[in-house]
Amino acid sequence: MTHPAQPTASHFINGEYVEDTNGTPIPVTYAATGEQIATVYAATPEIVDRALSTAKEAQKAWAKMTGTERGRILRRAADIMRERNHELSVLETYDTGKPLQETLIADATSGADALEYFGGLAGSLTGEHIPMGEDWVYTVREALGLCVGIGAWNYPTQIACWKGAPALACGNSMVFKPSETTPLCALKVAEILIEAGAPAGIYNVIQGMGEVGGALVTDPRVDKVSLTGSVPTGKKVYAAAAEGMKHVTMELGGKSPLIIFDDADIDNAVGGAINGNFYSSGQVCSNGTRVFVQKGIKEKFLARLAERTGNAILGDPQDEATSFGPMVSENQMNIVLGYIEKGKEEGARLICGGKRADMDGYFIEPTVFADVTDDMTIAREEIFGPVMSVLDFDTEEEVIARANDTEFGLSAGVFTNDFSRAHRVIGQLEAGSCFINSYNDAPVEAPFGGVKASGVGRENSKEAIKHFSQVKSVYVRMGDVEAAF
Ligand code: NAD
Repeated sequence: MTHPAQPTASHFINGEYVEDTNGTPIPVTYAATGEQIATVYAATPEIVDRALSTAKEAQKAWAKMTGTERGRILRRAADIMRERNHELSVLETYDTGKPLQETLIADATSGADALEYFGGLAGSLTGEHIPMGEDWVYTVREALGLCVGIGAWNYPTQIACWKGAPALACGNSMVFKPSETTPLCALKVAEILIEAGAPAGIYNVIQGMGEVGGALVTDPRVDKVSLTGSVPTGKKVYAAAAEGMKHVTMELGGKSPLIIFDDADIDNAVGGAINGNFYSSGQVCSNGTRVFVQKGIKEKFLARLAERTGNAILGDPQDEATSFGPMVSENQMNIVLGYIEKGKEEGARLICGGKRADMDGYFIEPTVFADVTDDMTIAREEIFGPVMSVLDFDTEEEVIARANDTEFGLSAGVFTNDFSRAHRVIGQLEAGSCFINSYNDAPVEAPFGGVKASGVGRENSKEAIKHFSQVKSVYVRMGDVEAAF
């Protein structure tokens, strides 16, 4: 019997599902059981071409509509997503393995927030009038044209909307390629946009591995590429986009610092560390995986952390009582288990977890290492799993220098009851998305993105508009033209 997660077809182009079984089959595995629940096929060159030519053509009429008209469609799509939240969350859980407890509040709802927010902004995108004596200049905020979105596997619905909503609000069209590990959810976003009244062809989804992503990025019809993925992929995609002088947004990885001073509220700090390491089983780019704890509260912090981590409920992700799910895939599980072994070998002290959970699927116990030093592999490399490294520190100056000693710069957090210190420290941390006495909040109203190797550009908020549009400037002379001859 066909599993309910099996999509109608692999791709969604020009307003309808399209299949082409000549592409490489991509099995979709439910991470909680290891069972294959669906198959899609990678886009062949014909499918890639069809999606791009459709999107290129559809964009012209879409950009001619008023912003208010485009926005109304996006806001309708947001309403449909909210109405179907339960069904979409169940699918997100099958796609990723994340527990329903999370997906019900963090995925389709976050996607709907983006559609609603950018739908609301669409009618207010304007240029300006610049007086020049009797002459004047006016500017026009124009769409870039055809945008490509490429997604990672941790938030398939959210990423499809965080890229699609601002792109469409600005009058662009999009071809979105989900991660091959989680190909299901973006198809629903495409379907819902059509149901909300979007013209066929403005938002298309095609499947495939890096090769299909590469074909999209290098195609001369494409004006912009927005990638969510790892730093190595980001470097390749950025370089390929540069060849064609395309616009880019790069949302890449991190190894973010979370700094806890000894005057912090311990339970809030522990809560922040749990949210910043174990939500989505640690598969979150902005996670604060280097937890610097000031020496005075170290043991108290570790004891409370171990106690609360022991309350995680591992189990069937479709059961709303489950609070901790599996790794997205067997491959990711093995990568993370490799890092845990490295942590043990390099002398970090295991506080809790540290192994695969004794159950079906790709579960790893939430793991905490203490006495981690800056040079250890687990403190330097992005693990993308439920592995927290706790490091000690003495002074503010020291911790700022150590926190910044990394190629990454996505996020940073500070817990302290001294507000001058909180702002002083955050002001010196090299990171794009920061938190004070909190961790990992990502509302659509706030810009999101990294500095250094963690990326370029910003998603969400009014900032995203700048990355999906460009300004045309027009000088208007009212008098006669003076010339040398
Ligand atoms: P990945 O880099 O392996 O793949 C990301 C996407 O890029 C996939 O769709 C993949 O098929 C595609 N791709 C791979 N090679 C390509 C190429 N040469 N050209 C074009 N496309 C190509 O990342 P992943 O394993 O799917 O996701 C995990 C990574 O994503 C982590 O590093 C994580 O930190 C990062 N991430 C970042 C954010 C953010 O917003 N900053 C959010 C989620 C995940």
